[in-house]
Amino acid sequence: MSKKSDKIIIFKKEKDLPSSAVSFHSMEYNKTGRWRNFRPVIDYDKCNKCMICWKFCPEGAIRIKKKGNEVIKLEINYEYCKGCGICWEECPAGAIDIEEEED
Ligand code: SF4
Ligand code: SF4
Repeated sequence: MSKKSDKIIIFKKEKDLPSSAVSFHSMEYNKTGRWRNFRPVIDYDKCNKCMICWKFCPEGAIRIKKKGNEVIKLEINYEYCKGCGICWEECPAGAIDIEEEED
């Protein structure tokens, strides 16, 4: 329960928000691929299309290519992949390698 002295601040627009570690719509505004020191690479011979990497990617940088309802393959969009390695950690099939990014 709020105390009488508590202030509730409501931000009506994104531009009114204070700077913080939270970035809304980062996919649209920031091409986070420039942050990357490490590059995840999918080995399609090992990938079982489970989509776990897609679920865990914090940047939404993994796309599912489908034909109708069938998943054809998962693709990493390197313009937005920031190289955090979460997909590499989470992939149950060991189908993602992580390579050092070249300059
Ligand atoms: S988590 Fe691994 S096996 Fe699953 S779709 Fe992604 S790359 Fe393929
Ligand atoms: S390294 Fe991070 S940002 Fe890049 S595809 Fe994997 S989970 Fe997404």
